[in-house]
Amino acid sequence: MESVINLTKTCQKYQDSKKKIEMQSLFRRHGEFCASHPLEVVVATMTLIISLMSMGATVPLDRDQACGWNYECAKAQTLRKSDVIVLSFARCMALVYIYMQFRNLRRVGSKHLLGISGIFTIFSSFVFCIAFVKLFGNTITSLYEVLPFFLFLVDLTKASALAVFALSASNRAEIRTNIGQALELIGPALTLDAVVETLAIGLGTISGAQQLVTMCSFGCLSVVANYVAFMTFYPACLALVLELSLEMGPSRTGVSKYKHLVVELKQDHEANKPNPVLQRVKIIMSAGLAVVHLHSRLGTGRLVPGTSSLVDQHTETREPDLSVVQYYLYRLFAVHVDYGLTLLLGMVLLIKYVLVDRHTDEFEMKHTLKLRESLSRTQVATQTDEYTELEEDVRTSFSLGGDDSDYEEVGVERESRPVQTCAIPGLSPLRRLTSIQGPRPVQECSNILKTENGVSELTDEEIKLLVSTRHIQPYMLEKTLGDSERGVSIRRQIITDKIKQDEAMDKLPYSNYEYSYVNGACCENVVGYMPVPVGVAGPLLLDGHEYMVPMATTEGCLVASTNRGCRALSQSGGVQSVLLGDGMCRGPVVRFPSARKACELKLWLEKTDSFDRLSEVFSTTSRFAQLQHIQTAQAGRLLYIRFTASTGDAMGMNMLSKGVEKCLQSLQTDFPTMEIISLSGNFCTDKKPSAINWIEGRGKSVVCDAVIPGPVVQSMLKTTVKDLVELNINKNLIGSAMAGSIGGFNAHAANIVTAMFIATGQDPAQVVASSNCITLMEVTGEKSEDLYISCSMPSLEVGTVGGGTILPPQAACLKMLGVQGSCDSAPGNNAQQLARVVCATVLAGELSLMAALAAGHLVRSHLRHNRSSINMQGSFQSSSCLSKSIAADMQDLRSTLIQNSANIDCKQSPREQNQKMSNNSVLADTCKRGADNIRTCENGKISTNGGRHRISVDTDENGGKDFGACINNVS
Ligand code: ADP
Repeated sequence: MESVINLTKTCQKYQDSKKKIEMQSLFRRHGEFCASHPLEVVVATMTLIISLMSMGATVPLDRDQACGWNYECAKAQTLRKSDVIVLSFARCMALVYIYMQFRNLRRVGSKHLLGISGIFTIFSSFVFCIAFVKLFGNTITSLYEVLPFFLFLVDLTKASALAVFALSASNRAEIRTNIGQALELIGPALTLDAVVETLAIGLGTISGAQQLVTMCSFGCLSVVANYVAFMTFYPACLALVLELSLEMGPSRTGVSKYKHLVVELKQDHEANKPNPVLQRVKIIMSAGLAVVHLHSRLGTGRLVPGTSSLVDQHTETREPDLSVVQYYLYRLFAVHVDYGLTLLLGMVLLIKYVLVDRHTDEFEMKHTLKLRESLSRTQVATQTDEYTELEEDVRTSFSLGGDDSDYEEVGVERESRPVQTCAIPGLSPLRRLTSIQGPRPVQECSNILKTENGVSELTDEEIKLLVSTRHIQPYMLEKTLGDSERGVSIRRQIITDKIKQDEAMDKLPYSNYEYSYVNGACCENVVGYMPVPVGVAGPLLLDGHEYMVPMATTEGCLVASTNRGCRALSQSGGVQSVLLGDGMCRGPVVRFPSARKACELKLWLEKTDSFDRLSEVFSTTSRFAQLQHIQTAQAGRLLYIRFTASTGDAMGMNMLSKGVEKCLQSLQTDFPTMEIISLSGNFCTDKKPSAINWIEGRGKSVVCDAVIPGPVVQSMLKTTVKDLVELNINKNLIGSAMAGSIGGFNAHAANIVTAMFIATGQDPAQVVASSNCITLMEVTGEKSEDLYISCSMPSLEVGTVGGGTILPPQAACLKMLGVQGSCDSAPGNNAQQLARVVCATVLAGELSLMAALAAGHLVRSHLRHNRSSINMQGSFQSSSCLSKSIAADMQDLRSTLIQNSANIDCKQSPREQNQKMSNNSVLADTCKRGADNIRTCENGKISTNGGRHRISVDTDENGGKDFGACINNVS
């Protein structure tokens, strides 16, 4: 029953939304029509206005009635003092209201908008009003009194929204679509409001009180006129003007700005969607009001007295002593206190708007911006206690050959701020410091720039102008402006204009980032930062301590899989680690006139005295750098010298470069014929695959091992020790050897290394050597039922100071591991500990993936014995005999295989099969072996899904949903 009700509700909602969409598309089509036939619409409406007005003009002017001129009107007789006060007050309020609307428009930031919205709305609506009044055969003598009400009904925001949409168009087609879109957005609500207002104000016309009747009648007409003008004349005129401007010059400036405004308007509209309940109330109200109107006008069979009231009640005709023109001039200049007051207020507001507000608005914009920024910071800061204090931190900057002491521990006091994770709504870069006045001349801007605090007086547009005229170097924006975030924001605007894709960078965040750490150290030409999800695996039990390991990755299942490995290790007593070596390398290349001369240096370098001398020189460059050994290789007259040094907690590349450069300078004095070809001769080897790092080590050389009891292997990893060991030999050892691998004797060490490198601010390019790893597995234990596993990683290039580790989020991840920054008691300990954690996490990852693969292997062995034939529905589609067998085994293992898109034809030759299967080792292998063993395989196709295959293994012993391992893109 409940489901039926729900279904009915859903259907109702669907119907409602369908109707709404139909209604919106009606408005869109109407807008598009007005925009595509602007001339026709304008001419038609103008004709209509003129003909409406001419209806009144059929009465000659001199015979027309003007209240107070050729007759005494009822109003003039009955207007009391209190009425005059109320009307004056209303007039003043109307002026203030209009003034406020204009100010709001100015804050949006465009004089075009001001002009277009203001002039069109007021003019067109006014003309329409007069036309309507004439249509009803009324005189306009009451206009003075009703004018305030007319002004109150003018809504410039809607007009400006429509103008923004139109102005954001860069070609004809866009003008049409944009105006259509705008009306689609604004139209329905506007129509409803117009109906409600007309009917509500119309109530006054049946009141019988003459003044009220007059005003309400005019109010109604104003609403209708406003609405008609807005829906026809206004969009058509906009389209016409824009088309003309396109015709005159194809590229209009500022289109991108309007595009941004459009996006904001849409977002605003999405965020402040009209409440459907309120909409319904309005509709019901309109219906009710319509009934009241009908009843009072038709039901009683007569008009309520005074309803024809726009016509002034002629009480007494008199002979005019002035011509009608003179009479109106007289009235215009006659000193009436109430009109004088209104006029005075109008003048004051006008002067204030033109002279004073321009500056205060810009000032306010800047300050609101700052206030919002600081507010948003405070909000987030309260959520993260760590960031509430001022911190002393080390800011380092490095260059080759300089004295290290210059750079060490330069204490810079800076406010530690949280890093933005979401954009501040409604605060787009284009809105900040944008002037409505357009940029001042280049020379003037350049002069202002040179003055103290000059940059703060320049708008973003002016800064952009100075960049385009090379008065400011684009890469120097941050430094020149003294405000990194503003620099980044302006660079983004410049890039946006260049790439001509206004929204391309919208989703690349840039606000609230600690650019002070980035500039001159981590990145140049900054346009934002890249948020990457960070997961955590653990606890990882390593050398008796538990670690929660942060991993930044976009590869689904990686963290989950590693987590399963960590759990298995924790249940097995954890991982033990040993550090075999710690030394970063730099290998310059030098040239001599002959091979003999080169050999002389080679032999010299092998002497202990020589090493001691160079070691001394080397250590002068940094108190953390200690030369460990020098290795050489000669090729012809070229000599490659590999310097290895410990570098404390730094990864050490910069340190090594400085030290090596100093050593080479010193060598040159003893070997004057030596020519330094390059400080790096690729003998280091940095960021390239090489055997030397694999064999000799580079950075930290770590070995981790663990023993996993057989029962844990079976219960948690869902495989057996024997299968794991066999798989490791066949895959990681023989397989990699067959592939001619160097350092790749593992399943997916690079996966873990990369995720940890990104999370902890290491140099991601050093994943190349850092993921060198050999994974070994053996059967162990008294009963030979446990698993011994080890990972040896000889070239882990990691550090906990310098490079990306100084960035607050990366430093936070290092803090999670308790290794952030310099280890003052024993420099180097933090970096070494980080290397141990990386290696141990790799071991966890290896264990988990290998177990999952071994489980796949088990499936194959089951297949070989052709043991099962249970239905495999859901796992394999359009698969025959083969899939059924697999299904049974998969069920046994509680694993699910989802396969990739390549259909694997089991009838193909083994070679062809292998070709296709190379990307899909487990599943493809399964198919192949299945085909080999099951001769009845017909039409042996496995339909697959999505170009990847995925094995998920539910490892929760309790049968719950705990995700144990899920291997994506099995390596
Ligand atoms: P890398 O050499 O890894 O590129 P950097 O040169 O960027 O690293 O950072 C190392 C800087 O950090 C050096 O200037 C060094 O003096 C300073 N430093 C401070 N504490 C330590 C430490 N415990 N170990 C190594 N360097 C440290």
